[in-house]
Amino acid sequence: MPRRVSILGSTGSIGNSALEVIRRYPDKLAVHTLSTHSDIAQLTQQVEEFSPAHVAIMDAEAAKEFTQQHPACTVHVGIEGLCALAQLDTDIVLCGVVGAVGLRPILTALEHGNQVALANKEPMVMAGELIMSTARKHDVQVLPVDSEHNAIFQCLNGHDASGVYKIHLTASGGPFYKQPRETLANVAPEQAANHPTWNMGEKISIDSATLMNKGLEIIEAMWLFDVPLEKIQVVIHPQSIIHSLVEFTDGSILAHLGVTDMTLPIQYALTWPERVDEPMARLDLTTMKDITFDAPDFAQFPCLSLALEAAHKGGTAGAALNAANEIAVEAYRNHEIPFLAIPEIVQTVLNDAAIVKATSLAVILQADTEARAAAKHAIATLNMS
Ligand code: MG
Repeated sequence: MPRRVSILGSTGSIGNSALEVIRRYPDKLAVHTLSTHSDIAQLTQQVEEFSPAHVAIMDAEAAKEFTQQHPACTVHVGIEGLCALAQLDTDIVLCGVVGAVGLRPILTALEHGNQVALANKEPMVMAGELIMSTARKHDVQVLPVDSEHNAIFQCLNGHDASGVYKIHLTASGGPFYKQPRETLANVAPEQAANHPTWNMGEKISIDSATLMNKGLEIIEAMWLFDVPLEKIQVVIHPQSIIHSLVEFTDGSILAHLGVTDMTLPIQYALTWPERVDEPMARLDLTTMKDITFDAPDFAQFPCLSLALEAAHKGGTAGAALNAANEIAVEAYRNHEIPFLAIPEIVQTVLNDAAIVKATSLAVILQADTEARAAAKHAIATLNMS
């Protein structure tokens, strides 16, 4: 029987890549449920192709319209709708939604014993400890889909964590690598979202331009692999061929190489621990004439330092960092603030946030709500001055 996959966020970039993978391996994988924020035109096409048992739609208006058009389809609405999909008996829940919204569905999936393939990093930044302890409690695996973490997961396979000396998290450097900071004052969201090597959704592409994405990934790696912050190092690798490396105590370094295509980590996570025979594409080593590494420039990309600061603070600092960044990126995408104001907003929120221990979901969601309000206030203040 093919493995049943529930896709949270099937109309986004990750969702579409996942459907490509499922189409390619029909004997191994099958769509169980689908969901969208509000793109019901695309969801309709997907429903016609895959006939899922259930769908969820975040936006209530869109859900109403879709239900009228598809009376035979079971439609769940809003965040509760995503949680309803997550708790159905299934083989794997792929979380490909963007931002904090994925947190409750991820926890719900784990609590119901469903394996989670995680492409949605923000919940790990907010609540990594809670997510991983929930997974352990219910004896289910969180399989990383983020390319770097998928690479690290593969490099660590069969190795004892105590033997890890360092995790080298690779970063392409984004579209503004080596560009003087002062030239970034007026970059438009369209330029920032134009990633040099990866084709991704808009929010993550902008996070890659500020390097906040790499900062979030440091925190994600800490929780996923249970390694201290000091052992995680960012290395710039502009070609995005090596997806990360693990250095062991004896000096050996294992790397994961692959094509720059999200179908590779998605396919690995969905079929784990099996490997498929015929991938979408293979890497031709002879075409690679230069593979280079560089140290990240913290002065040019302050978001990296902000993420480290949040990781050091611990507790609800991750939730505050993430919420402030989500609000700042949204404001930037709406042309309400300039590119360079993104780290300023996050810094202000992080400085003022009351950081407490992240003991429960309620505490974390409270920190998230407060940080969103603080970020909106900081943006208004910035625009008044
Ligand atoms: Mg990544």
